[in-house]
Amino acid sequence: MTERTPGFATLAIHAGAQPDPTTGARATPIYQTTSFVFDDVDHAASLFSLQAFGNIYTRIGNPTNAVLEERVAALEGGTAGLAVASGHAAQVLTMHCLLAPGDEFVASRKLYGGSINQFNHAYKNFGWNVVWADPDDISSFERAVSPKTKAIFVESIANPGGVITDLEAVANIARQAGVPLIVDNTLATPYLCKPIDYGADIVVHALTKFLGGHGNSIGGMIVDAGTFNWSRENRYPMLSEPRPEYNGIVLHETFGNFAFAIACRVLSLRDIGAALSPFNAFLILTGIETLPLRMQKHCDNTLAVAEWLSRHDKVAWVSYPGLPGDRYHNLAKKYAPKGAGAVFTFGLKGGYDAGVKLVSNVNLFSHLANIGDTRSLIIHPASTTHRQLSDAQRVQAGAGPDVVRLSIGLEDKDDIIADLEQALATA
Ligand SMILES: *Cc1c(COP(=O)(O)O)cnc(C)c1O
Repeated sequence: MTERTPGFATLAIHAGAQPDPTTGARATPIYQTTSFVFDDVDHAASLFSLQAFGNIYTRIGNPTNAVLEERVAALEGGTAGLAVASGHAAQVLTMHCLLAPGDEFVASRKLYGGSINQFNHAYKNFGWNVVWADPDDISSFERAVSPKTKAIFVESIANPGGVITDLEAVANIARQAGVPLIVDNTLATPYLCKPIDYGADIVVHALTKFLGGHGNSIGGMIVDAGTFNWSRENRYPMLSEPRPEYNGIVLHETFGNFAFAIACRVLSLRDIGAALSPFNAFLILTGIETLPLRMQKHCDNTLAVAEWLSRHDKVAWVSYPGLPGDRYHNLAKKYAPKGAGAVFTFGLKGGYDAGVKLVSNVNLFSHLANIGDTRSLIIHPASTTHRQLSDAQRVQAGAGPDVVRLSIGLEDKDDIIADLEQALATA
């Protein structure tokens, strides 16, 4: 008898969850507790030395968070996940397992503005050096790799510019360099794109955005694809060398194809402490149950709005890979065939001032620094999220002075368009 592989919508509702064994509760309970009672002294000892799986303390793991971890790992097609406090925490904890002071990683320069800041500034204090590459010139990734390179980092659909990265091409470069490819899949979610299918070794998420989907919780996730050989060449000592803090265990030897997720938990999360609240995990799990329905509606609304804007006489250009003729349209058809996401940018003929006026005149849209809400959101990156960057960095990141970013919500598309119409008329 062959066992059925559940479809995506079924996994979005069921993966990782079962009725609570003691109460029968059907929804995943919020285990709002800091700590868990040991059976006895031997049980405690085996938990602390990683000889048994189990709950110790919510900074390291929690049963509500565990359901979320299993669910996102299943949706991405990975071996295991680790839920953390935010998308940015997922990035730091991932790099902490890969890089030592003086090491480098290569990153696409078309990234979420917060990631550009984190890589350029915060990582300096850890001695982790970013080398930027251009996703529109894949060979720049090859040129950026050096003997010190420990990882390559890209976004599948990049925030804010509507850039689609050629994941397979970058994965080939990572494989040749012998380093893992990390893909931030926040804007696509696994409903639109599964980076592991194209060679990603690690997927990171801001659950804060479309996975949670309701603008009510910050959270992050690291998914281990189980594909990378951490022991080859001994370049990743956190995984391939005996760990003094766990009686000399070698994580890759002991945990095989989910060793990276374990390393992030027992070496990064345990010591850096960016733990996710179980309450947030509960809200995000509830959001994920409707992920396929929401993402499809987000994409359908977004295509309608992008088409409408591209015909408006105050609009200079629209950058949405879902539009035929967009420079990323072919990549979108390959990597995100169900839709190119709900975040995109457009340029106003009136430049910076027109951008500021537009965000002041909208009513249905909320002017704020987030994406991936049920509500439609608008921001003028040059005066907000990308303010800290230099002019050149802003343009490189797709956030020049005339650029407006939209995150299209789940309202009726005619209402969304009507709001933009009145705001553009008065701008
Ligand atoms: C928001 C975001 C992040 C950071 O997530 P937080 O939960 O805000 O820390 C990282 N990457 C992308 C693409 C994002 O949109």
